Amino acid sequence: MTAARLDGAAIARELRAGFAARVQRLAAAGIRPGLAVVLVGDDPASRVYVRNKVQACEAIGMLSDAHVLGADTTEAAVLERIAALNGDPRIDGVLVQLPLPAHIDEDAIVEAIATHKDVDGFHRENVGALSQGRPGFVPCTPRGVVAMLDHAGVELRGKEAVVVGRSNIVGKPMAQLLTARDATVTLCHSRTVDLAAHTRRADVLVVAAGRPLMIGADMVKPGAVVIDVGIHRGSDGKLCGDVDYDACREVASLISPVPGGVGPMTITMLLANTLDAAERRAARG
Ligand code: NAD
Repeated sequence: MTAARLDGAAIARELRAGFAARVQRLAAAGIRPGLAVVLVGDDPASRVYVRNKVQACEAIGMLSDAHVLGADTTEAAVLERIAALNGDPRIDGVLVQLPLPAHIDEDAIVEAIATHKDVDGFHRENVGALSQGRPGFVPCTPRGVVAMLDHAGVELRGKEAVVVGRSNIVGKPMAQLLTARDATVTLCHSRTVDLAAHTRRADVLVVAAGRPLMIGADMVKPGAVVIDVGIHRGSDGKLCGDVDYDACREVASLISPVPGGVGPMTITMLLANTLDAAERRAARG
């Protein structure tokens, strides 16, 4: 069997076209969704991420408000900027690009973002809401994975789902979302004994371990759906994921590539979270 390719880039394009229509409907009501992105320091990768987020907002007609602060900015000054954005009526979403310089306490910064503007879904209150199945912002990458699965018509109810990786931003919320969709979920991590024994049982396998090409064909159940969250740049400059795509596509039924899989869905879900917040603002009047 050769798996079908789960084309995140194509799904992202389709979803963003729908978002542009939602932005236009809000414009008719006098509202322009706004996302503020705060970057502290000059990490080159973070600069690229921020630029991509700003461009994605502008492409669908949303307001983007980038705040680039020097690497020596104090924690107090960052908190002050967040407080201003929390109170800015034009802004629906506030995102602080991580990681922050070592002298700034990331937790303190994330907790300072107003929960109703926390479009990354990293604030404790939104983390708690997800774990209890209450409404709140869901982190963009796992939300994007579920959106991809839904787009492909993958049934999750009653399926064995295995998530590899237990980070707060990907693995844990991923396991919670799959549980909420009635999958039976196993969460594997770096201390899991016999990882392959778990992954081989998976009808749906989501891999977010940050280990290049760690999942080989012998770790995949025939016919499984495989989602690769990992992203790595090799010494040859080429991108690859945590999954050996060429080998696993001969075993799986559906598989997401790297690049062009989960990556484009993550920013798309940032737009979705910001739009959701703007629509709630419109509903409040
Ligand atoms: P992380 O380093 O915070 O967490 C990795 C997790 O994998 C840990 O919980 C660890 O226990 C587990 N792990 C590590 N080695 C393992 C092993 N050998 N077996 C089983 N589990 C193992 O990483 P993260 O932030 O969750 O990101 C994971 C990967 O996803 C990275 O490659 C990252 O670049 C990528 N990522 C991509 C996107 C995207 O939009 N495509 C977004 C976020 C993260």
